[in-house]
Amino acid sequence: MAGAVEPCADGCLDLPGATDACASDAVEPCFNDPDGSYCGGSIGASARRDDLYVCVGRRTARIDACASGCDDRAGGTDACRAADPCARATFGNGADCGAGLGGDAAVLYNCQGGRTASQARCERGCEAQPPGVADRCAAAPTTGRCCLLRPPGSFVRGFSACGRGGSHYGIDSGAGLGTALVAGISGTVVGVATGHPNCPYNVSAGTCPSSCVNQFNYVKIRSDCGDPSDGGRDLYVYYLHVDRLAAGIGNGVHVNQGDPIAYVGNSGCSSGPHVHLEIVPVARGASAFLNTCTSVDPASRYCS
Ligand SMILES: [Zn+2]
Repeated sequence: MAGAVEPCADGCLDLPGATDACASDAVEPCFNDPDGSYCGGSIGASARRDDLYVCVGRRTARIDACASGCDDRAGGTDACRAADPCARATFGNGADCGAGLGGDAAVLYNCQGGRTASQARCERGCEAQPPGVADRCAAAPTTGRCCLLRPPGSFVRGFSACGRGGSHYGIDSGAGLGTALVAGISGTVVGVATGHPNCPYNVSAGTCPSSCVNQFNYVKIRSDCGDPSDGGRDLYVYYLHVDRLAAGIGNGVHVNQGDPIAYVGNSGCSSGPHVHLEIVPVARGASAFLNTCTSVDPASRYCS
């Protein structure tokens, strides 16, 4: 409306290249905001909600385009979101240290489909592994010796698998129900199971009903120092048929050699309270499984 004069209650905005207008949030997203940085979405700039407005003197001083979205924070300190480090995960899905991804070097990222599915801060730093092997947090310093403590109780049955004339992949040691079991070697608990009852053992048949095979309570530990016979390999130690776990034991918990981990039990296919100790050396970063010819005689790793 040429010639009309409209009083502006909040002042008039001189808009470069556009018709000047009365100041309001609608034409100037910074109008109501103290000096600072704001995501467009937080100050009503709906068309550029994921970009960053730098507001000075209630005017837009600059707009930064945010490639990975805008992080809405308090008090005019919004910022462009950092790119997801997993976008640079070149070996596909899995665990990657931040250092190789341009992310936080002390963080282990779980990358799935080029995005961070979860992440964990490594107290002692992150250890990159060779291509194809999952990176991991550095283990706590080992306080024990790099060898395996003998299980409690008395020897019942030895290792006889894989060319040794039998099919027993560990060592059985009989001990009273509830006898404390300690970590035979320092490491991280990487597997547990609880809640399995005893599965009646048929002495004449020498076995249990198939429905309860492998249904035992257990604790699985990954050794800090690797395999005592070859520190370049990982070693997994299994304690099977336990009654219950010691206080505080669960996945991810670090235990030192000699720390309580569980109590001797009779869970699963078992003819009496005992612990089945099984150890599995594998290539670094590889998975371990029970009852395969990867298992070796635990006695070969005993501390003297
Ligand atoms: Zn056994």
